[in-house]
Amino acid sequence: MICPYCAAPAELAGAAAVYPYIPEANTWPPRFICWPCDAHVGTHRPLGTLANARLRSLRKQCHAIVDPLWKEKGPGRRNERRNAVYSILSEFMALERDDTHIGEWREMTCQDLIDRGEEFRNHVAKFRPRR
Ligand SMILES: [Zn+2]
Repeated sequence: MICPYCAAPAELAGAAAVYPYIPEANTWPPRFICWPCDAHVGTHRPLGTLANARLRSLRKQCHAIVDPLWKEKGPGRRNERRNAVYSILSEFMALERDDTHIGEWREMTCQDLIDRGEEFRNHVAKFRPRR
């Protein structure tokens, strides 16, 4: 894993190395870390790309827009709702479905979704079956 900020190879270390204040971090999957850039990403699947604090915050904001749309109760299975929301997201973002992983997005893509977050929520609502 190469750091996209400085091009140095990242080091694989326990999550507790970057989350020393979170006791459960001992039980989390290891993370690739670039120490000089404070950029890191977990090794849980699917594997994302190294993100510094700013990009981690942007990705978190994107997840805050997208996740409630499939995590909240609704018709169908959870993974079906997730797939449906991500299909709508890929079309909304004009991305290939394979590129529609927030954990791989760079700043510009995250910012685009954040700027249009409300529009995306309304867009997804149009696909919801009414009862
Ligand atoms: Zn770096």
